[in-house]
Amino acid sequence: MTTPHTFSRHPAFDLVNPDGEPSLILVCDHASNHILPEYEGLGLGAAELSRHIAFDIGAAAVTRALAQSLGAPAVLSRFSRLLIDANRGFDDPTLVMKLSDGAIIPGNAHADDDEIARRIARFHAPYHGAIAGLITRAAARGIAPVLVSIHSFTPVMKGFQRPWSFGVLWDKDGRLALPLLRRLRQQPGLIIGDNEPYSGELEGDCMNVHGTRNGLAHALIEIRQDLIETQEGVLQAAGFLAGALRDAVPIAQAHASKGGPTMDEAKREAVEAAVFRRLVEHLQSRSDVQNIEMMTTAGFCRNCLGDWYKEAAEGLGQTISKEAARERIYGMPQAEWKAKYQRDATPEQLAAFEKSQKHG
Ligand SMILES: [Zn+2]
Repeated sequence: MTTPHTFSRHPAFDLVNPDGEPSLILVCDHASNHILPEYEGLGLGAAELSRHIAFDIGAAAVTRALAQSLGAPAVLSRFSRLLIDANRGFDDPTLVMKLSDGAIIPGNAHADDDEIARRIARFHAPYHGAIAGLITRAAARGIAPVLVSIHSFTPVMKGFQRPWSFGVLWDKDGRLALPLLRRLRQQPGLIIGDNEPYSGELEGDCMNVHGTRNGLAHALIEIRQDLIETQEGVLQAAGFLAGALRDAVPIAQAHASKGGPTMDEAKREAVEAAVFRRLVEHLQSRSDVQNIEMMTTAGFCRNCLGDWYKEAAEGLGQTISKEAARERIYGMPQAEWKAKYQRDATPEQLAAFEKSQKHG
């Protein structure tokens, strides 16, 4: 059975708590080391595929635990980053890795543009579509969500022992990262990295696309993998992060509602939608106002609004019939409205209407 968000029986993502409180959205780009059988493990053995090069060990479990304790929706990838990296833009040369931490990826050696496009369509695009869908749903409720991306890092990279327990990665938007760093650093005995072990400045990555470009507060959290190897470690890390997010997310939201110029794009749309609904309600309550009077004085009427509704929907790829669009405005089929409220135009009204058309 194929679901709308899949190309195959294997969906590209898991959606946890889709109806959860959307003021915080969790994402896990490297949740899975799964590679569909037809890719034959990209030529790698089970040992390589269970290494950090294939996925972020422990990150999915932490994301699920966080989603549960915070009641937040979460999107988790269901494909290995070796197939295609969900945290890279299309222009990034590491989108499909040919080499990772000393391992050659045979199945990627001949991945040309067509093959990469297929993997984008099959995995990358549906995964990001799911994240965008959650953001749109939140925006429809007038909520500008805060985005948190959960990753994990290997304790030793190229011979270097990484000292950080957790890292917060961010670029220019410190609304969430700064209060989160402050809060995480209150815990004694931990080393918290600020843009460690990597910089959060990566054009086209997940937080850049969904956070920066939408004006939404966001941060990426990196967890050292040896801390979350066991279920006990997962719960401990998730508990710690949940506490920090409970404090930091409202601070980020308070900044958000003060309104950076781009921030409230989402909210602005929700406000505009609310104004439209109020206009429609008003016109429905003022059933004494005739369409012909509206046309005469303002050059538009309820039918025009219905037609504009249809045009706007079509502009977004949504098909709606003229009748259905007008029904949204009238609150009932147009014929019913006409029978109930439309009066025959008086000679004066007709004359005024004709005059207005000549001027118009
Ligand atoms: Zn990662």
